[in-house]
Amino acid sequence: MFSTMENRSVIVTGGSKGIGLGIARVFASAGAKVMLAGRDEAALQKAAAEVAEEFDGGMVATCVTDVADQPSCQALAAATVETFGGIDVLCANAGIFPSARLQELDRAALDEVMGVNFYGTAFCVAACLEELSRSELGRVVVTSSITGPITGYPGWAHYGASKAAQLGYVRTAAMELAPRGITINAVLPGNILTEGLQDMGQEYLEGMAAAIPQRRLGAVEDIGYAALFFASAQAGYVTGQSLVVDGGQVLPEDPGALQET
Ligand code: NAP
Repeated sequence: MFSTMENRSVIVTGGSKGIGLGIARVFASAGAKVMLAGRDEAALQKAAAEVAEEFDGGMVATCVTDVADQPSCQALAAATVETFGGIDVLCANAGIFPSARLQELDRAALDEVMGVNFYGTAFCVAACLEELSRSELGRVVVTSSITGPITGYPGWAHYGASKAAQLGYVRTAAMELAPRGITINAVLPGNILTEGLQDMGQEYLEGMAAAIPQRRLGAVEDIGYAALFFASAQAGYVTGQSLVVDGGQVLPEDPGALQET
């Protein structure tokens, strides 16, 4: 049996919607105290109310945070310690995925995506480091992507680079965190049905579903359960690793392979 998350303090950045809210719901269902972080206060409050109602008596708090801003990440860590008494798990999940072609990738476009997706991950880990060290089971779970580390898609070169950067970071971070008793691992989602993905339009969603061996997009909880595994006591010997959760999307060797199934 997997250990319980009872009373463990969990930060979920990007916890106001999409995958982050799915991660938060899964941890809350396992008994964790969950801190939701994002930029939009109203969205955070709405998400927290949903989670608290669904998991009766669940401890959920919110903190307005911009992960691209280092002091904001430090304030998130401090608020979590003040509210829950410490930090056991950091789910560095906040991310953006604006589309831009290569010729549009000026400094501002690159800074924006790297700032949230990669700097945000590094800022949050640095901000939580001391408290995670105090935890008996310090855990960091990073939401990366198949896009960048494994696959590509026109318009997302900068996004893919930011998601691959997270994995490069995770491998060395795992070594630095090991003596502190902290593990760090990454979940690589395929196409997960979120508000953010829905904005890409029906044609994109249908095209993607057709390209996935399971012929469907993933649910946010699919990522939540992978994060829960990495956060468990039983995953204590797993660090610096990544887990693809994509319904088999990266597997076909060519488009024809899918038609054979
Ligand atoms: P989403 O529905 O757009 O949600 C993104 C979340 O991140 C929101 O809570 C948003 O809240 C927060 N956020 C964005 N910028 C932020 C910032 N600067 N500081 C703090 N919070 C910020 O996106 P999603 O699809 O759930 O994606 C979540 C993560 O999964 C991202 O890292 C993404 O790259 C990754 N991912 C998603 C998919 C997919 O299919 N959906 C696939 C692979 C990887 P605010 O806007 O209010 O700040």
